[in-house]
Amino acid sequence: MDARFTVDVKHTLGEPRVLVSRRAMLHNAGVVRRHLAPGVRLCAMLKADAYGHGAAAAADTLCNFCVGDGGDPPADAVAVASVDEALGLPDLPVPVLIVRPLENAFIGRQRLRIEEAVRHGWVLTVCSQAAADDVARIAQGTGRRANVQVLVDTGLARGGASPAELADLLARIDARPSLRLWGLWTHFASADLPDSPFMAEQAARFRAATDAVASARGNRITRHAAASAGLFLHQGVQFDMVRPGLSLLGIDPSGRPSTSRPLRPALKWVAPLIGIQTVPAGGTVGYGRTWAAGRSTRVGLLPVGYADGYPRSFSNGASVLLHNRPAAVVGRVSMDLTTIDLTDHPDAHVGEEVTLLDDNPLSPVSVYRLAEWANTIPYEILSRIGPRVKRVPVDPEDAECADAAEGDDEGAEASDEAEFG
Ligand SMILES: *Cc1c(COP(=O)(O)O)cnc(C)c1O
Repeated sequence: MDARFTVDVKHTLGEPRVLVSRRAMLHNAGVVRRHLAPGVRLCAMLKADAYGHGAAAAADTLCNFCVGDGGDPPADAVAVASVDEALGLPDLPVPVLIVRPLENAFIGRQRLRIEEAVRHGWVLTVCSQAAADDVARIAQGTGRRANVQVLVDTGLARGGASPAELADLLARIDARPSLRLWGLWTHFASADLPDSPFMAEQAARFRAATDAVASARGNRITRHAAASAGLFLHQGVQFDMVRPGLSLLGIDPSGRPSTSRPLRPALKWVAPLIGIQTVPAGGTVGYGRTWAAGRSTRVGLLPVGYADGYPRSFSNGASVLLHNRPAAVVGRVSMDLTTIDLTDHPDAHVGEEVTLLDDNPLSPVSVYRLAEWANTIPYEILSRIGPRVKRVPVDPEDAECADAAEGDDEGAEASDEAEFG
């Protein structure tokens, strides 16, 4: 295992930190795998630093550790949004996909990024003939073939080639010896609605646009469409590969925990109490004096604020957990600090760790609850946890077959397979 990921938990004691459980991620990957039709591959979507969890450690976990006894690591591929995000990953024994459509190849330093991606063999998304031409030119300069995949717009209207444009674009790609068509993909607009007729419509459009190409090229191209909601809530949309993100991190795409899919949130956000002060009856706390003590109140100080992604809308509205009991946020959440009411925690003392976001999905400070308080979705709560908060991967030593994935030979074998034949 890469030494970078064996952070000693104790080294971050006394600081705000995000504890990320590898074991939970592997458990979730097992749950996802059980929902896949035979032969369907799993591409772990790790954009935005794996939704705030730390993409490098998440990728290491999902590509180098096993679920349960023996078996293979769960991820057959990894996806990120941009080349810069891919550069932040460790070397992985699986294909790396970049989903942001590539344009502007010759503006600024884009060309260097694309060269880098081609050198690494990463799969670039192109949606236009101009983009395909640009990648072909850049690839030629590097002396390597570039792997490309085409995003087909089936109704999300967030980039992509239209089905009508697809044939010409594929012909253009085929005509360029420095390009290799790796895959075809689309993205759904309403996968989180179990009965959405538009979902079926999009899947049908994707099939209509790609069936002929897929049967002509067999397993040499990979078709993929479904993210977490698609694979859990819909039939017949898995194609060759799925791209879950949220569910691997243990959050149910329905927006609430599900008993039929027992996912385990992988992230717990904690911070130490750095101060306790008594505010006399009638005194106020924080900017704008939005909270006044009705009685003499012990107020605790936490070194976390909206700059860390703890939303300002939590002012006088959210709670944290201390000794498994809630403590209310009082006054305004400021950029670096948050204040909580410790009246019901007479035993609280400075240095103790408070839970801002719990890894128990039923906790009063679960990510689902925080999302409700902030009037948003778990994705936004997680991906906004700021860079000041240390990410600490925990329980690496528990991952069952860490040693098996370590040998150089096995790594080499895995990268041969990574092309999927
Ligand atoms: C974010 C994203 C995913 C993963 O979605 P989840 O809902 O987190 O599973 C898959 N594909 C694309 C293109 C995405 O942008």
